[in-house]
Amino acid sequence: MTHDHAAQRRFAVDVLEKLRAAGHTAYWAGGCVRDELLGLIPKDYDVATSARPEQVRDLFGKRRTLAVGAAFGVIVVVGPREAGTVEVATFRRDADYSDGRRPDAVVFTDAEEDARRRDFTMNALFYDPTRRQVIDYVGGRDDLERKLVRAVGDARLRFQEDKLRMLRGVRMASTFGFTLDGDTRAAIEAAAHEILVVSPERIAQEVRGMFNKRGAATAVGLLLALGLARAILPEFHELSAEHQSLGLAVLELLDRHAVFDPAVVLAALLFQTPEAAATANAVLRRWRMSNDEREQVVWLVKNIAALEGAAEKKWSALQPLLAHEWGGHLVTLAEARAAATEQPLNDVKYCREKLGLPRGELDPPPLVTGDDLVRHGLKPGREFAGLLQAARSAQLDGEVRTAAEAIALVDRLRAG
Ligand code: ATP
Ligand code: MG
Repeated sequence: MTHDHAAQRRFAVDVLEKLRAAGHTAYWAGGCVRDELLGLIPKDYDVATSARPEQVRDLFGKRRTLAVGAAFGVIVVVGPREAGTVEVATFRRDADYSDGRRPDAVVFTDAEEDARRRDFTMNALFYDPTRRQVIDYVGGRDDLERKLVRAVGDARLRFQEDKLRMLRGVRMASTFGFTLDGDTRAAIEAAAHEILVVSPERIAQEVRGMFNKRGAATAVGLLLALGLARAILPEFHELSAEHQSLGLAVLELLDRHAVFDPAVVLAALLFQTPEAAATANAVLRRWRMSNDEREQVVWLVKNIAALEGAAEKKWSALQPLLAHEWGGHLVTLAEARAAATEQPLNDVKYCREKLGLPRGELDPPPLVTGDDLVRHGLKPGREFAGLLQAARSAQLDGEVRTAAEAIALVDRLRAG
């Protein structure tokens, strides 16, 4: 999904111009306008228009459009390969919300009403790149300048309609380093206990969005303060104040070291919980996160303590952790924890040096493999695995230096 930004932007201008030439009103809308005004590069460009979905399809041709969200007024227009796609949505307002999450239907309308259905004023701006004109029906520009996340319209009502907006508000505040407006904040506090009507997958997606960029510590601080953490992450909410602040301090350090990985952030939140590995497993299952994400968080919380006293450990005990694909993250996490608790940093320094070794030294090829042992007359099984492991440890600890010495060791162990 990485496209050439200049090409993407040019195509998004072309789409507007084509809609205008056909007599429709059309603007860029939402996140892309916010990002451009903040001097950031938008991930993608969304267009809002007076044209109806059928008109959009007719104008751009069936072959270059996808009607995936036509019922909600959304047509995807496919651009040149390097430009990607642009979503073109007809100005709309939402009909009733009955489930606290999604509108039951949409009604096509004008630009102003389309702005008013959006969640936050900073996300409710339109932009005309040709005339360099911002169209602002909700005071979003001022709020952007004041770095304020403010719900459009009556905050309580807006969070009643769609509870997911509470998490989006936290994400907007943490990502951009903005403040939540007072009314917006109070409305979230009042509705926080209802957040669980949002599906676990959508909660997880927002949480990922908070933890994969700068601001994870701010996000968690807000989730705690607003009462959202109590509902979505009780495991962290229930920790003592001391443990919570250690978790937050670790997150600050991860931020400072530009570690923006949701799995590492989650491990930092969960490693102090009772039965941390089982707890991490349960949290990530609850959020239907991927097996890979889950295994990573569980591995990190399980092994963070194993780096204590690293410099005094046998290399065969430490090496499997450092050579592991997540070894770098483990050391970063241990380092942040040590720094936050003002522990000496010699163990993590030692680990960092080891991590800096050339791969062949950090993780040398084994002197003997399972195949070698089979050829030597052993049968696969539990003893076999133990012998192979013993040979590997002896190799790492420098007790055997050649394949012959390793095999000799295996023979001694079998005999004795
Ligand atoms: P991101 O940078 O994460 O994509 P975004 O604001 O662009 O942030 P999108 O999910 O892409 O988020 O949504 C695009 C726009 O649609 C938003 O800017 C906002 O105007 C509107 N929007 C999205 N979700 C909601 C919602 N739950 N309620 C109201 N408006 C929403
Ligand atoms: Mg977006």
